[in-house]
Amino acid sequence: MKYTVRKTLTFEAAHRLLKDYSGKCTNNHGHSWVVDIELEAEQLDERGMVVDFNELKRLKQWIDDTLDHTTILWEKDPMCEYIRQSQQRLYVTQENPTSEVIARIIFEKAQEMFANDRVKISSVAVHETCTSRAVYKI
Ligand SMILES: [Zn+2]
Repeated sequence: MKYTVRKTLTFEAAHRLLKDYSGKCTNNHGHSWVVDIELEAEQLDERGMVVDFNELKRLKQWIDDTLDHTTILWEKDPMCEYIRQSQQRLYVTQENPTSEVIARIIFEKAQEMFANDRVKISSVAVHETCTSRAVYKI
């Protein structure tokens, strides 16, 4: 038996997909991204919690500092240079900045922040629209 907790976080960012891709997502466009992070534990802590929801604000802070109101681009996207030169916020990925890749990046950051002998990150889901989401999970 396991306990799970889930927190929903949001951010605004643009991206485009250029690497080995053709389709309308090659155009720079924005989403109101919704992130669902789920954590699990077989045992609760002394407070009766998997993790205090308040502690998850650290991840929200990282998302705000790192991804919110950025343009998220593949490292070889020529638009990176323009964004840097114009001193706009940029987040660079080694692969196409798909929902799947963004979910994995957030999952890995959440692991750094919250995983321990008792608590695991079970999944990170990233919704780029109301009907489309990608999940990275153990
Ligand atoms: Zn998109």
